[in-house]
Amino acid sequence: MKYISTRNKSIKVSSAEAIVNGLSKDGGLFVPEEFPQLTKENFDELIGMSYPERVAKVLSLYLEDYTYEELLDYANKAYSRFYGEDPCPLVNVDDGLYVLELWHGPTCAFKDMALTMLPHLLSAARKKTGETSKTLILVATSGDTGKAALEGFRDVDGTDIIVFYPSDGVSDMQKLQMMTQQGENVFVCAIEGNFDDAQSAVKRIFNDAEMQEKLLAGGYKLSSANSINWGRLAPQIAYYVSSYCDLISSGRIKYGDKVNFCVPSGNFGNILAAYYASLMGVGVNKLICASNVNNVLTDFFTTGEYDTHREFHKTMSPSMDILISSNLERLLFEFCGRDDALIAQRMDALKKDGKYSVSKQELESLNKIFEVGYATEDDTAEVIANCFDVYDYLMDTHTAVAMSVYDDYFENTSDETPSVIVSTANAYKFPCDVYDALAQDYIEDAQKATKKLHAYSGEEVPEPLADLDKKPVRFTKVIAKQEIESEILEYIKKD
Ligand SMILES: *Cc1c(COP(=O)(O)O)cnc(C)c1O
Repeated sequence: MKYISTRNKSIKVSSAEAIVNGLSKDGGLFVPEEFPQLTKENFDELIGMSYPERVAKVLSLYLEDYTYEELLDYANKAYSRFYGEDPCPLVNVDDGLYVLELWHGPTCAFKDMALTMLPHLLSAARKKTGETSKTLILVATSGDTGKAALEGFRDVDGTDIIVFYPSDGVSDMQKLQMMTQQGENVFVCAIEGNFDDAQSAVKRIFNDAEMQEKLLAGGYKLSSANSINWGRLAPQIAYYVSSYCDLISSGRIKYGDKVNFCVPSGNFGNILAAYYASLMGVGVNKLICASNVNNVLTDFFTTGEYDTHREFHKTMSPSMDILISSNLERLLFEFCGRDDALIAQRMDALKKDGKYSVSKQELESLNKIFEVGYATEDDTAEVIANCFDVYDYLMDTHTAVAMSVYDDYFENTSDETPSVIVSTANAYKFPCDVYDALAQDYIEDAQKATKKLHAYSGEEVPEPLADLDKKPVRFTKVIAKQEIESEILEYIKKD
């Protein structure tokens, strides 16, 4: 199966090339030529499998450059790094209501589900496409992605990773997580300034031909771990298939029954994977797209106009504070009959005017499957407290956004379809806000808030976050943004 660009279908590449290149050269995103179908027999087989086997099976239908055995090897390596027995347990909190926990990985957030797989896919794809140089991953991070990428790429053969974070732009907890990063192929460095300073410095490197030549002379080629890479999206389809299998095998539903998934969304990658799973044969009634007050997606699915001219709000669910949801491009490609010229035109309008619209028919067909809603900061805090009271379930701020939107949906529709709330982070990743929601007491220090939250809830602090303050600090360097080139060149001299 080949991959085509959403902006020019005549650009066709193999799965390995799609993963190596990340983005198509016309600026479009790679999508599979067609969606593989899972039959009843496939589901019977998947149900008897472990999670890594399910991942390998689903990915083998998309990634023809890899054998099932290779994919299974990567999945075993990736998901053995998760804590607890099941990498993504489905917790039954109420009649017909489930929480799919995607945060049992090394950084306690859902990015781990794909960022532990991507390094293996990428490093093998390099070899398969005849590349002999090592891969250097550069990341500018506002917090969560950097740490998840560091953990994913740590000690993966043929790769090195350098993460730059803004010296005054990440939380204490996030800073500590990165400064204590382990691994022989990692480097972390603060850049003086805010996130934009760090991001534009890293972008400059990607556009600097002379710099790329110097890196190549040192045996390195640049790559990014960005969420639009097909190698990050594909592993996300697997957990939707897997949770559907779990619902069947536990007797909650029968094969062919439909379920709702409610997903806290930002860049639209997670919920898009749910849609792709539905195209493969997972029974889906509604996909509920939940936003915080940065509700550009709610407005889009209501009016058909995507308009980025709006105020940016900092919220307690920061991973959803996004105005441009890049992966929406892939969804629109499917709903406009795969009209590449039309997508190119709309994305051009987005770049030039900061907005675009879809037709009435497209909006109608989108609304047949997608429901939307958003939660205010007060709604979010209230739901955290309520779910703890009523279900004895502790959830993070992002998951609470989804739960709040689901509550509204249920109230409006009385839809009794079994529903899965997709949970994207462990509560201890956001201890200050979660504790405040429960106890009406905002404690600024993350370590102190963690202790308080533990005492209040009795919930265990997950292993990766538990002993952070006892881990040795390895990376303390702070540089000016002009020094980023020399810092990178210095790093690659190490071996
Ligand atoms: C990245 C992230 C999201 C948003 O996911 P998208 O795929 O970007 O829509 C939601 N919650 C958490 C905790 C995240 O890290």
